[in-house]
Amino acid sequence: MTTEFSPQRTVRWDQRGPIRWILSHALPHKAPVLGILVGALGNAALAGLGPLMVGQAFDAVIASPPDLRTLAISAIVVAGSQLLRGGLFQLMRNFCSELIGQRVERDVRDELYASLLGKSMSFHDSQPAGDVLARATNDVREINLMFNPGLNLVIGSLNFLFVPVYTSPTIHPQLVIIPLVYLGLYGFLVRSFLRQLAPKAEVVRQSFGAMNATLSEAIEGIETVKGAVREQFESGRFSERAAAWRDAYVRQADVEARFIPLLMLGLLQTSGLLHSLLLFRAGIIPVGAVISYNGLLLLFGFPTFATQFAYARVSSGIASARRILQLITAQTELDQNTDGYAEKMHGEVRLEGVCFRYDRLNGACQPGEHAVALEDISFSIASGQTVAIVGQTGSGKSTISKLINRTYDVNAGKVLIDGIDVREWDLAALRRQISVIEQDIFLFSRTIAENIAFGRPGATMAEVEAAARAAQAHEFISGLADGYDTVIGERGATLSGGQRQRLALARAFLTDPAILVLDDSTSAIDSATEDRIQKAIEAAARDRTTFLITHRLSQIRWADLIIVLRSGRLEAIGNHEQLMASSPAYRRIFAQYED
Ligand code: ADP
Ligand code: MG
Repeated sequence: MTTEFSPQRTVRWDQRGPIRWILSHALPHKAPVLGILVGALGNAALAGLGPLMVGQAFDAVIASPPDLRTLAISAIVVAGSQLLRGGLFQLMRNFCSELIGQRVERDVRDELYASLLGKSMSFHDSQPAGDVLARATNDVREINLMFNPGLNLVIGSLNFLFVPVYTSPTIHPQLVIIPLVYLGLYGFLVRSFLRQLAPKAEVVRQSFGAMNATLSEAIEGIETVKGAVREQFESGRFSERAAAWRDAYVRQADVEARFIPLLMLGLLQTSGLLHSLLLFRAGIIPVGAVISYNGLLLLFGFPTFATQFAYARVSSGIASARRILQLITAQTELDQNTDGYAEKMHGEVRLEGVCFRYDRLNGACQPGEHAVALEDISFSIASGQTVAIVGQTGSGKSTISKLINRTYDVNAGKVLIDGIDVREWDLAALRRQISVIEQDIFLFSRTIAENIAFGRPGATMAEVEAAARAAQAHEFISGLADGYDTVIGERGATLSGGQRQRLALARAFLTDPAILVLDDSTSAIDSATEDRIQKAIEAAARDRTTFLITHRLSQIRWADLIIVLRSGRLEAIGNHEQLMASSPAYRRIFAQYED
């Protein structure tokens, strides 16, 4: 499978289906698996011993004279076996299933997180963040619950179904009939119960994801929601989703409630009593055997009650596993290409007949089609040049930068860096040597120093500070209460647009990329720092290829080369003087931009 990132891990899970996948997660924990099985078997066996002993004791008491020795032995065996059951076997079973549940939950989280980091941008573009989060938190939790109490009770109670079947013939061969009939019916009914339950559980998981997606979108866009006074509408939308989730749950509970084996349990017990009493009246079995037998039939109670609840957990767990696996195995187009070209980058950039559409439909882009973002773009830039890209909003300026660092792959044509197709590069080596500073800068809720050093985690404090100085950010950082240790987003430590952009510039200085793209990054910088930032950019551009996507005439005029885009097409290319002389489109754009 292709991925943009794979963690250094040797374990490979079986991803061919939800059940195999869960097994491949659980079975390597050999000791706890064994613990569950031994615990379950021991518990059931000792549970079966109880009624047999009680029956024996009964016969011993009503015998004349009463057989007190047998009575005493029976009492000791019952007490001892029940102590062993609760103190050892049940404890072992519960402990081991909880252990497996927790371990599997941890491993699934790791696996899912790493796989999400490895997905391409096209994948993340098409996946609502709230739904991804629902899967990463709630669905992963369901898998834990599937082990405990789900499978714990299923496996634990399964043996209780068999104990009466193989113990009752020791009382009298005929007595096996009713347990056998019940076992057969039970198996059949549980199968159909599970079949009804599975689709309902699936809908519950799905509608939870949808509800979460609505919530996270509203919170992410809270400023827009408030600004447009759409709180009422958003709240209504959320209520709808919440109601859909509730309804799905109710439908699942409805199936759970119509659980026929519970009804059958009563029938089983009455017919068992009748059968054993008939045998007793015919003088075939003693009264103690009647007691033992009916005690054994009571063992069916545990699996019958547990099924209703435990199988629902298992069903939800499988539905969740399917949803998680869907994310993990979703195809992403880009490949990390770890064997690819990974040399030091010089910064020569060439585009040859590049065509790109965001909808990822394959095939060449037909000219003029709506979804086509770039059409037949070719240009060549020598290493170290400063290039301005200009054009109206939506003309494809940012898209070019996303093709250069291979956030997306082209549909047709080639993007070459240092003469090597970006698809031939080792993806990590490629991206490490290219810095793109976007208009909308993302900062993590970590310290300012950590944010600056994001691309170079090993950087020393002195290096971080030097980068901040070069980006004209040192002054305002020093003014903050905790300086470089200020945690962004905590106690109101938010930054203005201009400050964020200077942090991003510092980040870029520190990684020292061969290619630097500033996507409208200086637009929010106030005029007080403008001059200094201009100097910082000039310094940054000096020994690397730099793309300036900008509206500032001073920057455009100063560039070695200007690329003029219009609706995804290359309109003109050249330096300022050439374009002023030759390109009416450039003159028009130039006249619009303010200085
Ligand atoms: P610019 O940076 O020049 O304003 P962009 O390169 O961002 O323009 O966008 C070019 C075109 O591609 C626009 O029509 C825009 O709507 C579209 N576009 C940009 N990003 C995406 C995306 N993630 N998914 C789909 N379409 C996109
Ligand atoms: Mg843009």
